Amino acid sequence: MDGSRGFREGVASLLSRPDEIMLAAGASGELLVARLRVVVAALLLLLPLINVLGGGSIRESLAGLVGAVIVNVFALLWLQLARRPRHYRWLPFATAAFDITAITLVLAVLGANHLPSALNSMVVWCCYLLAILVTALRSDGRTTLFAGLLALLQYGLLNAVVFSMASSPEQLISTEYGAVTAGTQIQRMLLLAIVTLVTATVVYRMQRLVELSGTDGLTQLPNRSWLLHRMPRLLESADEDGLSLSLALIDLDHFKRVNAEAGHHAGDRALRHVVAVLKGMIEPDEWLVRLGGEELVLVMPLPTGTAWERVDALRRRLSERPFDPERAHLEPIRMTFSAGIASSPHDGHDASSLLGRADQRLKIAKREGRNRVVARDG
Ligand code: GH3
Ligand code: MG
Ligand code: MG
Repeated sequence: MDGSRGFREGVASLLSRPDEIMLAAGASGELLVARLRVVVAALLLLLPLINVLGGGSIRESLAGLVGAVIVNVFALLWLQLARRPRHYRWLPFATAAFDITAITLVLAVLGANHLPSALNSMVVWCCYLLAILVTALRSDGRTTLFAGLLALLQYGLLNAVVFSMASSPEQLISTEYGAVTAGTQIQRMLLLAIVTLVTATVVYRMQRLVELSGTDGLTQLPNRSWLLHRMPRLLESADEDGLSLSLALIDLDHFKRVNAEAGHHAGDRALRHVVAVLKGMIEPDEWLVRLGGEELVLVMPLPTGTAWERVDALRRRLSERPFDPERAHLEPIRMTFSAGIASSPHDGHDASSLLGRADQRLKIAKREGRNRVVARDG
């Protein structure tokens, strides 16, 4: 039961859009693959030359040269596009489709010269495996599945065409490439499917690890590193839409007392209680993050005034929901927090300047007696 749920979750996670950290890693992976492709494409230019030097026909070598130049033009184009990270969402799919299709075309050209080489060339066929494997660098399971399915489809079609073109079984036997048999072709298709599944599993594991590294173990909230990765994008899109983004730095009041009176374990539960109360009240487009200790951050797509009202409502709600330490001799403990709010664009354009301003205001809130929210200086 658990196994099948795990499998369903894995598939769902592979088919969904990866999170911010994975997308950023995927964009740099795309650039790396684009650079690799340029090097491989440049090497392809040497092949027609080697063919001529080895006594091959000029016509054949010219055709090879034209093919290699086209591959180079595309490789440079993909490199140019990959230099603008995450600007073109379709880029990983387009480049993966290009890689797979280029390999199929090379096999088709080989087959036009000598039929068995289309299906029995080991070196070119292995490039399919490489193209599927490097999709892992894009950190997006959808690209891996797409590349694998496309390779299976194109190679399957190539098989159908070659088998239908061979008028006798002898035409599928070659001294150089061996005999093309249905059995070896099925094995190759299976290998393509297996490599796709293994690569997809690697991507899934990477996604899980990134997810874990961005999640706080005690409260299951996103953590500081998640916030620092997410903020630039959030600020950027708020900027593009001409909207404000507010950030509230929340620090629980006298939390040391909870630990001192009820013990550290109860302190942990108190933290989870606070998070549960706050989470119950926040909107889907707001983000609650545990910055560390008993400090939280709430990110809201709101201007300062409205953000202040939201956070003050949270403050009042929390103070109405005392934490029950579940100890016979202890009364429920009233939990309160102080918060400082900073908003883009007027308090800053990046996470660290907003956090800095919010911290100054949090200090004011503490100085003025705690259990309050401050959104302005002095
Ligand atoms: P203030 O109103 O000035 O914020 O008082 P405070 O007692 O909350 O002081 P401060 O913020 O400096 O200290 C926070 C305390 O929270 C210190 C630490 O013992 C406790 N704390 C931090 N993280 C955890 C945690 O994960 N679990 C528990 N139980 N306690 C924690
Ligand atoms: Mg603190
Ligand atoms: Mg505190």
